Amino acid sequence: MSTEKQGMPSSSATHVDKAIATRSWSSGSAGLRLASALLLSCIALQASAQKGRNNDPAAPLQEGATMDDGPYIVVSGDTLTAKWICDGMPTEIVRPLGQDAARFPPRCAYPDEVQVPASPLEQMFVVNGVEKLAVMSDLHGQFDLAVRLLQANGVIDSERRWAYGRGHLVVVGDCFDRGAHVTEVLWLLYNLQQQARRAGGDVNLLLGNHESMTLSGDLRYMHAKYATVSNLLERPYPMLYGEDTVLGRWIRTLPTIAKINGMLFVHGGISPEFLSIDMGLDKANAAYRNSLGLEKARVKEDPVLSTLYDGRTSPIWYRGYFRDDALTREQLDDILARMGANRIIVGHTSMKRVETRFDGKVIAVDTSIKNGENGEMLLIEGQRFERGTLQGARLPLSSVAMGTRQEQRLR
Ligand code: CA
Repeated sequence: MSTEKQGMPSSSATHVDKAIATRSWSSGSAGLRLASALLLSCIALQASAQKGRNNDPAAPLQEGATMDDGPYIVVSGDTLTAKWICDGMPTEIVRPLGQDAARFPPRCAYPDEVQVPASPLEQMFVVNGVEKLAVMSDLHGQFDLAVRLLQANGVIDSERRWAYGRGHLVVVGDCFDRGAHVTEVLWLLYNLQQQARRAGGDVNLLLGNHESMTLSGDLRYMHAKYATVSNLLERPYPMLYGEDTVLGRWIRTLPTIAKINGMLFVHGGISPEFLSIDMGLDKANAAYRNSLGLEKARVKEDPVLSTLYDGRTSPIWYRGYFRDDALTREQLDDILARMGANRIIVGHTSMKRVETRFDGKVIAVDTSIKNGENGEMLLIEGQRFERGTLQGARLPLSSVAMGTRQEQRLR
């Protein structure tokens, strides 16, 4: 297991002259926003320079490499404006927001057409009777690896289209930070959710600590590429996911805790401290949604919010299932009983493979995809729990398959 300290982005070697940036999207406080953009970019570049280079293959943008990103789609009145940076140059497509889905063909970066439905999809966070589940976590901008893993396990086809029928893909948080293809990862999941719904399935994307960090302007783990993108598009990076953007609006509808077939899915985990604020799924998800992007000082002032964001005990930060003596079996059983769940599936704490704790009552699905080298999925069909590999093999998750009397009863 590893901690948040790993995988710091290294300094970007790509230099693009700001003078080529086109007109600003910003209105009203444009000057202020530009100043913030420059400040944030400077902080990010300075931070990455201080950390020096690392061996993370995903982080460095090599000198001479193409600078591609997008689209970022802004909603303004009845108009959608999609912006890309292609080979270092800003480009855009404008579409009316009508009764039908607006379609944006690929320019660069995200390789598929983006469809923006006229009305946003409602997000589910308590679902029963799902026939099969594919679970992954902590994608951290690793688009290519995520695509390969999804393809190897039959969730998407060779053209990245939904192929999982009535199944659900669950992504347990942390699409942002570290890697250089965050935008692509988000559009992939955004598009797959629409395709899945049409097939009777779904994509359940949960919020992790890096979604909240990014939206509140904590950019310590942001890839240096995005400082350049932010400059070129003349928007602070968090504002590229602002409330006037398609992805920003979508992210603000997402849950943090989901219960599917009686299993709890949450990025970090449910701690005894979380139980003490006596908050059900409905209230907790609403509180996270409504506080996304809030400054740290405001969070600390509020007793409920400070529990929801506490770095040690919050559902998006907790690591207690993986620390010796952090939690007893009795405490875990109490958490499961209080949450009405038969097990808890978490990301955030990085493993080499899908692993279990507490006789399979806890399953860890952050398989270090962030390193850009390897990863696994958890595949659940009925009572069968398996590891799905990058080679498409299905390997047993023995401690879960055996189960305990208590687990059998709770299913
Ligand atoms: Ca995390």
